[in-house]
Amino acid sequence: MTPDTTGARSPVRAAPPVAAPAATATHPDATTVAPLQDGFGRVVRDLRVSVTDVCNLRCTYCLPESGIQWLPKDERLDDDETVRLVEVLAGLGVRTVRITGGEPLARAHLPALIERIDAVPGIEEISMTTNGVLLSRHADALVAAGVDRFNVSIDSANPARFAELTRRDVLPAVLRGLEALDRHDVGVKLNAVALKGITEHECVDLVGFARERGLQLRFIEVMPLDASGDWTEDHVLTGEEVRALIHERWPVDALERAPSSTARVFRFRDGGGEVGFISSVTESFCGDCDRLRLTADGQLRTCLFSHDETDLRTALRDGSTDEELVRMIRTAVAGKQWGHEMHKPGFRPPDRPMSAIGG
Ligand code: SAM
Repeated sequence: MTPDTTGARSPVRAAPPVAAPAATATHPDATTVAPLQDGFGRVVRDLRVSVTDVCNLRCTYCLPESGIQWLPKDERLDDDETVRLVEVLAGLGVRTVRITGGEPLARAHLPALIERIDAVPGIEEISMTTNGVLLSRHADALVAAGVDRFNVSIDSANPARFAELTRRDVLPAVLRGLEALDRHDVGVKLNAVALKGITEHECVDLVGFARERGLQLRFIEVMPLDASGDWTEDHVLTGEEVRALIHERWPVDALERAPSSTARVFRFRDGGGEVGFISSVTESFCGDCDRLRLTADGQLRTCLFSHDETDLRTALRDGSTDEELVRMIRTAVAGKQWGHEMHKPGFRPPDRPMSAIGG
């Protein structure tokens, strides 16, 4: 398995020739297209595509145990619709695509869709966030289709604790998924949501698990994106708290933050690799956010925490031209909010949970 520390990329393809009215001299696509830029000067390069809202786990901080209303099939974008939107967005400067969900592997025939996204001119890298449960079955096809990097979510390396957190007793399946990736030359990172009262007791073992496999593990602060709306700041175990616990066992040093990165990465002094912290609650990284999200039902979101969505599905199905879609996308991006405002009085979480937005 290749520890993903370099952000390896597949060969760069030529960007599509889109006529540009007002290109800037500094943007890499200045000769072809005006950057997709928000009102704060941030340029969009990364697209998160949720390919389904369905998930096969019921993580306590994400989904309820039962009673979930999944999207009706006809409300979900099909492959042609998804690829068309990726083409339009690639024409506007999007270069990296992360496939997510729900659980992306719950979508049938996913490799066929990925192969088409990989063929879109301008797309340089495809990554996927998955819970890994179905990975052992699909890893070969996903890599062959063009996935360059995988983020596998694993909140505990202890089977009983994993089952308690996800409400499914499937840690062995996730481990088989990681073994399947090990046979490929792809980037792999692990994600763990940090929960107060729980992760303090898990984090050292989990880091040990990641170190043994030469993988970077990233701890994510739990955000108010649970379907039940139960989140409070008391649930948050901060990145700094986890880092201090790890540091006691394996001292770490901070690395310089990569531009637009969600994670602060630290290197183990003993040469045992790296560990990352996605401190979305306590240390916002909105300042250089370069992301856009497309939900499984074709809504464009400029922020995980937005209350507004742009209905590209209806526009697509009403026969909009690419130029009309471009106008809608540019208008949405121009209005992108600065940040998540989680700490402001009156903060209201988004109307959809993380699973329905796409993590
Ligand atoms: N099913 C896939 C998975 O588990 O990786 C992809 C989607 S999931 C929504 C993406 C990531 O979001 C996972 O790492 C998950 O643990 C994380 N996540 C879900 N709910 C969250 C929350 N309320 N706060 C922070 N992270 C959350």
